[in-house]
Amino acid sequence: MNVCVIGTGYVGLVSGVCFSELGHQVYCVDHDSLKIDQLNEGISPIYEPGLQELMNKNRQAKRLIFTGDLQKAMADADAILIAVGTPANRDGSANLTFIKEVAIEIGQHIRPGMTIITKSTVPVGTNKKIKKWITLSCGHQQFSVASCPEFLREGSAIKDTLHMERAVFGVEDDLAESVLRALHEPIQTNIIVTTIETAETAKYAANAFLATKISFINEVANVCEGVGADVQSLAEIIGLDPRIGPSFLQAGVGYGGSCFPKDTQAFIRVAEDAGYDLQIVPAVEKVNAQQRQRLVQKLKTVYPGHYLREKRIAILGLAFKPNTDDMRASPAFEVVDFLQNEGATVIAYDPIASAQARRLMPELELALNWQEAVDQADALFVLTDWEEFKAIDLGELKRKMKKPVVIDGRNIFNPNHMKQMGFYYDSVGREIVD
Ligand code: NAD
Repeated sequence: MNVCVIGTGYVGLVSGVCFSELGHQVYCVDHDSLKIDQLNEGISPIYEPGLQELMNKNRQAKRLIFTGDLQKAMADADAILIAVGTPANRDGSANLTFIKEVAIEIGQHIRPGMTIITKSTVPVGTNKKIKKWITLSCGHQQFSVASCPEFLREGSAIKDTLHMERAVFGVEDDLAESVLRALHEPIQTNIIVTTIETAETAKYAANAFLATKISFINEVANVCEGVGADVQSLAEIIGLDPRIGPSFLQAGVGYGGSCFPKDTQAFIRVAEDAGYDLQIVPAVEKVNAQQRQRLVQKLKTVYPGHYLREKRIAILGLAFKPNTDDMRASPAFEVVDFLQNEGATVIAYDPIASAQARRLMPELELALNWQEAVDQADALFVLTDWEEFKAIDLGELKRKMKKPVVIDGRNIFNPNHMKQMGFYYDSVGREIVD
């Protein structure tokens, strides 16, 4: 098939690379010319394990072409995938500016028989608007629209695409369904064909449910702290029940990233527009915000009063989760802000996200490695569960720090081990060791 993907971000680039790997001829378009130049030099603008190698393999095979020229990219396309951003408006609703721009541009080059597939996460009703915007732009309706929401996870995006657990085809006609089937043909997966409205809403419901699981276990963790129970052992116990399942039961500093925070907010607005006040999702957001505050307050026990002035605090982990450089809505923003407002000197290290941090947090001092970050630190916060941090030599860590105080927002160390090593160690939902 000839495929055109618009937007070369985390979703668009991964989709383009994977569909070319499956044998399709793919054009990837972006209006950011710097990105296109970088991609044409064989450099991925985002960090995603295995992406750059797979991208270059398919570029060399001439199945994958990067361009800023939408007309050229769409010329022979059977399927046009929209994968541009849908950030949050001030009121939490999804901002459809990029989607509308793209729809109008598509309308200028569309040919009869093409299928426009939305991969971006959009509120219910958006694909109908896309159809209207394209129609206004091209003057006819001889094309199909479809919703094919994206469920990949950053950090394992290639695997999640090539071995997806399910593909959801929200379609308005047989043409769209057959195009989507042909596009996904080599992938063995569960295919669910449904209405566009169901597909659009399913994506928000999935993310809201996952966010709920995280806030739920974080609330349970907070109870564990009060009653002397251990949330990790508890999560194992409840997770063995297949009705609950073990995933997404890791207590910690709360969720971040480019999806859960904005999609939970957008879902609340979607429901409001439909005349229903969601009860659970706003509570999920509230718990998530509170969780960051609880973590930073843990340092008060160690340094009371004007407790952080002239203190040097190390942060390990800036990305919202491991194996990505994505810092969008990362808990690190709030934690660093809080510490700096309290007068602390903050120095941070992340194995991959430091380049993003330099751009997004220009005031933040960055270390080249974990040893430099913790050197002479009065306390350390762990905010991302990178494997590199789990493997830290605790003896070396203790020798480097001025005070052996570790506040662990990801529960990566074993409390007993930390106790033996002589750390003050406070994590989430587990006993404090001193
Ligand atoms: P992103 O910001 O990384 O990428 C969007 C890209 O679109 C950018 O490169 C931007 O330059 C480009 N773009 C914007 N307007 C354009 C235009 N008119 N023409 C050409 N290119 C244009 O975003 P992302 O993280 O890839 O997310 C894209 C969508 O997918 C969002 O709706 C998001 O909610 C959804 N989604 C994201 C993930 C994820 O893990 N990142 C997962 C599932 C769904």
